[in-house]
Amino acid sequence: METIENQEIKSNKQYHPQMHSAEHILNQTVVRMFNCGRSFSNHIEKKKSKCDYHFNRNLTQAEIEEIEVRVNEVIEKDLVVVEEFYSRDEAITKFNLSKLPDDAGDKIRIIRIGDYDACPCSGLHVSHTSEIGNFKIISTDFEKEILRIRFKLIEK
Ligand SMILES: [Zn+2]
Repeated sequence: METIENQEIKSNKQYHPQMHSAEHILNQTVVRMFNCGRSFSNHIEKKKSKCDYHFNRNLTQAEIEEIEVRVNEVIEKDLVVVEEFYSRDEAITKFNLSKLPDDAGDKIRIIRIGDYDACPCSGLHVSHTSEIGNFKIISTDFEKEILRIRFKLIEK
């Protein structure tokens, strides 16, 4: 028997673990490639998801392909995904907490993906990156200083 809480989480598409984990890797990849911030807004759904970034242009086809290659490299490394807890004071010095709600409490949950990424998140994630599947960018567009990346996952 599952608890009501678990059923609620599973029925909430915002918490799709594969997509949620892919979003973390995508964000870290974009940050590393372009030296910009993580997505400030995103919609995570089972079939397709989107992340929005403050940016200054659209991506080239070569850049889109490089993001795909890099994200899939991380997935294929089968990195371990773990949760860690920090006090708010400690977390502030280590992580970007700007997206964290103010009522998140004093214990901050950090999701760490191997040595690749660590960021605060309350969602559900895979335990190993190979569970994510193949990452594919559907499209990107750029409007009003916002770059939107739409992506999907292809099950292996
Ligand atoms: Zn997450």
